Amino acid sequence: MLIVGGGVCGTALLFELARYTDVERILLVERYDQLARVNSKATNNSQTIHCGDIETNYTLEKAVKVKRTAEMIVHYAELLDPATRERCVFRTPKMVLGVGETECAFLRERFARFSPHFPAMELLDKEQIAAWEPQVGLVDGALRPEELVAIGIRRTYTAVDYEELSASFVAQAKKGVAGSSRQLTVQLGTSVGTITAEGDGYRVELAPTPGCVSAAGEAPRSLRARHVVVNAGAHSLLMAQRMGYGLEYSCLPVAGSFYFTPDLLQGKVYTVQNDKLPFAAIHGDPDVRAPGKTRFGPTALLLPLLERYKPASFWEFLQVLRLDWAVLAVFWQLFRIADIRNYIFKNLLFEVPWLRRRLFLADARKIVPGMQLSDLTFAEGYGGVRPQLIDKINRKLMLGEASIPARPGLVFNVTPSPGGTCCLGNAARDVEAIAERLGCRFDRERLAQELYGENALGAAAEQVVVAG
Ligand SMILES: Cc1cc2nc3c(=O)[nH]c(=O)nc-3n(C[C@H](O)[C@H](O)[C@H](O)COP(=O)(O)OP(=O)(O)OC[C@H]3O[C@@H](n4cnc5c(N)ncnc54)[C@H](O)[C@@H]3O)c2cc1C
Repeated sequence: MLIVGGGVCGTALLFELARYTDVERILLVERYDQLARVNSKATNNSQTIHCGDIETNYTLEKAVKVKRTAEMIVHYAELLDPATRERCVFRTPKMVLGVGETECAFLRERFARFSPHFPAMELLDKEQIAAWEPQVGLVDGALRPEELVAIGIRRTYTAVDYEELSASFVAQAKKGVAGSSRQLTVQLGTSVGTITAEGDGYRVELAPTPGCVSAAGEAPRSLRARHVVVNAGAHSLLMAQRMGYGLEYSCLPVAGSFYFTPDLLQGKVYTVQNDKLPFAAIHGDPDVRAPGKTRFGPTALLLPLLERYKPASFWEFLQVLRLDWAVLAVFWQLFRIADIRNYIFKNLLFEVPWLRRRLFLADARKIVPGMQLSDLTFAEGYGGVRPQLIDKINRKLMLGEASIPARPGLVFNVTPSPGGTCCLGNAARDVEAIAERLGCRFDRERLAQELYGENALGAAAEQVVVAG
């Protein structure tokens, strides 16, 4: 059994296979010398467990579905020793803020519909907002003049370090096979090249990654695997298309940058989504790795790279773009809407030194009205690229993740946001297929109890851990 990619999705699958199945030999191959160097790196994403309560771009149906998957991370964290748990998940308050009459009316209506499913939700007026988040509710010590309403959830596990989580998955996976004859190997600094069908499995070419030390000096080799799951982020699509699968997709990479301020917020403060925009609105929250700093973002910059800060990935982008009339039609659909067009241009300007802080300040002041230019610094080297897929057949931009089931025993997972949140849920889906194909034991009941919090009768445990 081979897993390609050592981000949070690949390592979550490694953990579930080790703990809930008896697969004899599992190999995870990661291109870099360390795990979680790309989108799962702590600095490269928004560190949020998205469970649909404060993300106003989620419908109720989607929110309820995402909540069950999101809670898996918190249930998983309960299995960890306290010191490891405290490095992986963090309790903070969170809210979505409505500013002005329209947004406030929208949030009141949303609260009425969502709160029965998210019982910890509270509807906050201006005074309460100021009590929870003084920098949001007050300017110069007085309540903000605009109409304000927020939906808030008091302290709950809402922040996560996906990099630490990846490391913990590997440690727990190793524990899961310790003392048995099962083999679990994590091979770093090694790139997976071509994958070709061979008999009832696959022949996979491996080579040391140039510039990495973990496998330096080793000769390229090939191995046979009966089942292969590719969790290589945007590169999953590239690898699938090189094999002739997933050709119905194109990729629009949307980079996200961040800005730091001093410690302005107690918890996560999201804003109401403009429903004409396919990209999430900015938010602010304390950075889990940078004590005393609040992080604002992410921006949404169309960037022709499959990996941020890796100019060579431009050529890989060109290969997955697969530019044709269907892709141009989607670009046209996006550009002809004034809100989207303006947003795309504004996000380009967010990258221009000198100008970017001034422009971003205007947006960030919706959250913290008293923010000063001197408070803001561009978070250099932060942020990743969300590989948003374009469905060329239906000519539309897809907002969520995609799993390309190429052939029996070969799947390619592409994971834009909220791919971190869904890591254990997607892994459970893949484990189901692996168990069926390999005919191995799969302790579904234990997984349901430990990760979904279901009791022995199959009902969800009473405590709602993430959202209410
Ligand atoms: C700005 C931004 C903000 C985000 N915020 C959130 C958030 O708050 N919450 C959330 O849930 N999600 C968020 N996401 C999405 C989330 O970061 C990703 O969905 C998640 O990290 C994907 O995990 P992954 O393991 O699939 O991919 P990655 O973490 O990118 O890992 C893929 C791995 O595959 C390896 N790889 C690639 N090619 C090969 C090869 N040929 N051989 C071997 N290894 C290979 C890479 O080196 C990499 O380590 C955000 C993303 C961005 C960009």
